[in-house]
Order: sequence, then C-alpha cells, then structure tokens
Amino acid sequence: MHFNPRYASLPAKLYHHQMPVPLKGAKAGHFNQALADELQWSAEDQAAWVEICSGQKTFAEFEPLAMVYAGHQFGQWAGQLGDGRGLLIAQIVDQNNQTIDLHLKGAGSTPYSRMGDGRAVLRSVIREYLAGHTLNALGIPSSNAVGFTSSEQSVQREKLEPGAMMLRTSDCHIRLGHFEWINQYQGDLLPEFTQKCIEWHYPDCLNAEQPILAFATQVIQRTAVMISHWQLVGFAHGVMNTDNLNITGSTLDFGPYGFMERFRPNWINNHSDYQGRYTYQQQPSIGHWNLWNWLNNLVPLCPADYDKSQWKEDLAQCLEHFEPTFLEHYKLGLNQKMGLPSFHKDSFDCAMAFLRILQSEQLDYTQSFLRLQQHDYEAILDDCLDRRAFENFLAQYQSIREHQDTDALDTDMAKANPQYILRNHMAQKAIELAERNDFSEVQRLFTLLSQPYTKQPELEQPEDLAPLPNDVPEVMVSCSS
Ligand code: AMP
Ligand code: MG
Repeated sequence: MHFNPRYASLPAKLYHHQMPVPLKGAKAGHFNQALADELQWSAEDQAAWVEICSGQKTFAEFEPLAMVYAGHQFGQWAGQLGDGRGLLIAQIVDQNNQTIDLHLKGAGSTPYSRMGDGRAVLRSVIREYLAGHTLNALGIPSSNAVGFTSSEQSVQREKLEPGAMMLRTSDCHIRLGHFEWINQYQGDLLPEFTQKCIEWHYPDCLNAEQPILAFATQVIQRTAVMISHWQLVGFAHGVMNTDNLNITGSTLDFGPYGFMERFRPNWINNHSDYQGRYTYQQQPSIGHWNLWNWLNNLVPLCPADYDKSQWKEDLAQCLEHFEPTFLEHYKLGLNQKMGLPSFHKDSFDCAMAFLRILQSEQLDYTQSFLRLQQHDYEAILDDCLDRRAFENFLAQYQSIREHQDTDALDTDMAKANPQYILRNHMAQKAIELAERNDFSEVQRLFTLLSQPYTKQPELEQPEDLAPLPNDVPEVMVSCSS
C-alpha cells in the first residue's frame, strides 16, 4: 500500500486519534480482491485482510482517527455528530494515483458516539457491502468496500445480532456536515479547511478567478449528477441527511436504502422516515435543499475585496446549476434506457408516458425496461389492466423509433438497463445464511452483481429477476444498524 495520510495534516480539533477495538472471534465474511488489487494492496496485506478488516491490524504509516462533523437530520439541525462507530484507518493511493480513504465501520465507540455502542451488525454490513459493490458495478459513483468480517460477539439491536466490521473505501469522507460543524463551532478553521478541500478534491478550481465559487459549483454539479444516476437505476438512498452526503458526489452512508422494484416513486423504504422526506421522488429536491444549506457555510469566506451581498448572491447563483445539470443527465439517461433518440422532441414525453404506466400498473421498474429492450411488448401488455394506455404509448414509441438507427439505440439501451439489481429479498436471504456462518449467498450475489448488465443464466436464480409476488410481504428494512 502507498500511504498519503493527508487528513491528519488538518488542525487537531477536526478529529480524534484512536485505535479500533476488535470484536471477539472475528471471522472472514467476504473479501473484494479486485478492489484490493486496484488499491495496490501487497500480497502480504491481502493475506492479512481478515485482521485488517476486523481492526486487529493497523498501519504504522497512519494513525487511525475519528472525524468530527455536524448535520441536519430529517430537516432539523442535529448539532455535533461525527464518526461514532467508524475510523479512518488509512488514506492510500490507488493504481490511478487517486487517494482513497479506508474507513473501518463498526470499530468501537469514539468521543462522537453519543448514545451509540460504536458497533455495526452483520445485517447492515452485508447490506452496505453488497449495495456499494452494486452501485460501483452499475457505474454510479459510490463508496465500496475491500471486505467485511463477522464475529462471535453479539450486539444489541431490536434483538441480539452478530457484530461485524466493514472496511469501506471512498474517494472522500468529508461531508457537507463538516462545513456545518466548522461554521458552528470553530469558524476560524473554515478558510484552511476549504482550501484543503479544493486542493485535494477540486484542484482545477485553484486556477479559477474565484476558486471557492468554482468549487461550490462543482460540488453542486457532481451531487446533481450522482442523484440523476440514482433516479435512473431506481435507487433510494434512504437517509439523505447533510452528514451523509460528501463533497465529491459519491454515494455514502446509505443505511436503509432500497433498489426500487415496483415503480412507486413515493415509496418509503426507510421505516423511520415517517413523513416520507427521503422517498425516491424527493431525492432531487432534498439534494437541492442540502446544498442550499451547505452554501450558507461558505458565506464567511467572502474575499476581502468582494462586496458581501454580491458574494451571497454569487453563492446562491452556484445553486442555479443544480436543476439543469440534474435534468440534462436524467433526460439523457432516461432516453438511453428507453432506446429513444435524445434529439427527438417527443422522446422525453414518451418516456414519461412509460413511467406513468409503470406507476399506475405497479410494474417492476428494472424488469419493464428489460422487456422494452427485448421488444417483448406483449409481456408488458399482459401485465397491464389499462391495455389502451400501453397501446397508445407503444404507438408513439414505435413512431419515434421509425426511421432511426434502432440497432445503435438498442446497443445503447443494453448499457443502461441492468439485468440485475440488489432486491431486498436477495440481500435478506444472503444475510440469513451469513448469520448461520454460510457466506455462499453473499459470494453468489457479489459475483452476479459484479456484472449487472450481463445476463448470467448459470448464476441467476428466478427470485433475482422480479419482485416477490403480491401475496408475499415485502422485507421490512429496519433503520437500526
Ligand atoms: P447514520 O445515520 O448511520 O449515518 O448515523 C448518524 C450518526 O450516528 C453518525 O454520527 C454515526 O456515527 C452515529 N451512529 C450511528 N450508529 C451508531 C452506533 N451504533 N454507535 C455510535 N454511533 C453511531
Ligand atoms: Mg452517517
């Protein structure tokens, strides 16, 4: 491994050094060897992955630390938060020369644990492990993980569950909430901290006339692009608090997430989200709200030679990039999923008509796009009560595609419509087996979801392809983790 311990160069008030506290009886869960290779782990490091992913082995080159941050949770100011159960155990350089954080989740309590026990349970670790892997394989910016371990030590949630640890990777663990903490409690650190964020994550902004405005604009644009990816694949993050969004627009800290099955844009997958603040359909506007909140923390950075009210206006102007960036990427992506040409004036309306049918007929989002891609219109029609609506859609759809290069459109479609997503019941089955020390289903899903756009008949199971039947209750995703 090649180390770049840059976070520890920041003022000490921003973190607390401490070592992980291993769980009793750590045992191997799963190891992502391809990722370890990308991260330039030596053979020796790879051989020691269980020790590393269970907090028994740390690195002389990096002193583990917990970061402090704050945040707005469910729309309310929550004050100081911080790594309550995770530690940054290294920052290393990958094969593309990018610095990647290794964050050990479940590593024991920290000064920021508040009432929590500092632990993570196997159930939530497997959910995050498989989802991060899936998002990466789908081409969506996201954290990932090198591996996870289970243990013989129980952790109390609604019931006793096996404790576990996961070694998460991300290009950035600096959250919008870092700025909120600094601004609220340690304002003097704001200029230096912002400067480091720009140097580390947006170095091209250093050359802009106003680096901070350029930085803000890019954070906003990357977040908008990330959310457009979520919408296209049907991913609901579940806890879009400002402490769970980072400044590089890569998906982070998704606990009670869900990959949508039947198309219900207002479906609540996080059972503690009583008001439906973080439903699928709300994600773009919540992203906008979070960024607006974040921008307020850049107000004190007004340059000396700048008019203060102009500075505020210019910051607000940065947010004007959010909606067009989101729409541009969402529309392009949706047309690609539909196999419609982006330049055609009716393509997007036609796509919307398709989504309205999926919604009113409660059809499976992923499967319906695949049927469209396979030109299996009969299969969709058979599932529709309102056949007329689908026939009208199909007439428009086919008239737009007439005289187009449909082979090229279909090739593009295949790159945008996954054969497999991580359905809740798939993860659940893997968890139930893993809790009995059988990690074979984790392994199967890991392999299957490594290539989500490729049909793998020898590996897939019938339940991977469709939602559970209506008379089988959906898995309740607990928010405890
Ligand atoms: P989350 O919603 O999981 O991102 O967590 C919100 C905050 O609560 C973060 O500061 C976490 O570190 C902290 N937290 C969550 N679960 C625990 C736990 N079991 N022990 C300590 N802190 C926790
Ligand atoms: Mg969090």
